[in-house]
Amino acid sequence: MNEEAKVEGIKVEIPIYNDVWMDNGVVNLYRFLDGVDGVNVNLKTDTLEFEIAEKERFLKGFEDEIKQKRDSVIFVTEKDDKTGERRNIKKDFVLLQYGKKVEGTNVLKEKIYSDSEISERLEQIFENFVSGVSSCILCGRTYRRGIDKLKQAVYPLVTKIRSLSGVRTLKEQYTELCPLCYPVGSLEWCDDGIIYRVFPTSHSLVFIPNICDFKKLNESKSKWINTVLTGERFSNIRIEF
Ligand SMILES: [Zn+2]
Repeated sequence: MNEEAKVEGIKVEIPIYNDVWMDNGVVNLYRFLDGVDGVNVNLKTDTLEFEIAEKERFLKGFEDEIKQKRDSVIFVTEKDDKTGERRNIKKDFVLLQYGKKVEGTNVLKEKIYSDSEISERLEQIFENFVSGVSSCILCGRTYRRGIDKLKQAVYPLVTKIRSLSGVRTLKEQYTELCPLCYPVGSLEWCDDGIIYRVFPTSHSLVFIPNICDFKKLNESKSKWINTVLTGERFSNIRIEF
């Protein structure tokens, strides 16, 4: 029997989570996939459906889209007042860790955002989400092989602090994350519909809508996505007098 999962032609369905971060993540994934060749995508009220028609074309397009969003949504470019040098900095509310700088440029440690690891990670995702014996802590789906564990880069409410959720104190379970929840959660940081205001050295306020209907959620966010400021480190709220 061929061990390799057949990716092409596989139809994927992601039902609603009834969870703010993940449901916004699904709509964000829809917006990603809608701009990529080689995949047919359909957003319904309670499900995101997509079918990979051409694997190579799809993976390459998806990778390019992730890199482009990473650089334009997660990172901002700042100019150093003294040296005039321009450098990329991630927005302060983003709970992704920096990796080791590459040629003086900031990079992210998370594999789906790493230039050297992204293509392997995408291959892993689409080869391992087929049914298996493990069951996912976030969605309950069964899957063949996990590719990462539950952590703040995927689901920011995950913490070791019991009063906040304490999920990570349940050692056996937070390792059980399916290969589809991983991209839904970790790519949500690229959502340009998140409204934010950062109070440097103190805290950040983040507004993420809670609408348990994918189509309505997408329509609502579409209304403001093109009106918020882009490329701003501390807030994307437009104030007009
Ligand atoms: Zn899952």
